[in-house]
Amino acid sequence: MMKENMIDLVIEKIKEKGGRVTIQRLAIINVLLKLDHPTAEEIFQFMKKEFPTLSFTTVYNTLHSLHEMGILREYHFGEASRFEMAEKDHHHFLCYSCGRMEDIDEEEVRIFPSEQVAARFDFVAKEVVLKGFCENCKETS
Ligand SMILES: [Zn+2]
Ligand SMILES: [Zn+2]
Repeated sequence: MMKENMIDLVIEKIKEKGGRVTIQRLAIINVLLKLDHPTAEEIFQFMKKEFPTLSFTTVYNTLHSLHEMGILREYHFGEASRFEMAEKDHHHFLCYSCGRMEDIDEEEVRIFPSEQVAARFDFVAKEVVLKGFCENCKETS
């Protein structure tokens, strides 16, 4: 999706949820469109160049509010949460060696829950995390 369209969609969604469209919120969205599954710390370091007085707490709180509005997804893998825009459902690959988190299309990994499991739960999303060594790390490990 085009970056401009994405920002417009986000602005619409914030308004729809009764939130305010603040500079911090839009700046974080911009960073999320640039970095691949960043942590709050990575977002903070990136934003500090443009907003030297920005505190980590502000970044953290802004991420939290965007997450509550359903604009972001948060993943808890390893030591720090990683964030991304809540677009289409997809799977992830997580590298044990470099910590890189990569997207995998939903169609690339098919999930077939058993009838028993399907009867027990009401699925909202079906996501898997594949773990191992990425293309850069698998040769050297
Ligand atoms: Zn790797
Ligand atoms: Zn992703």
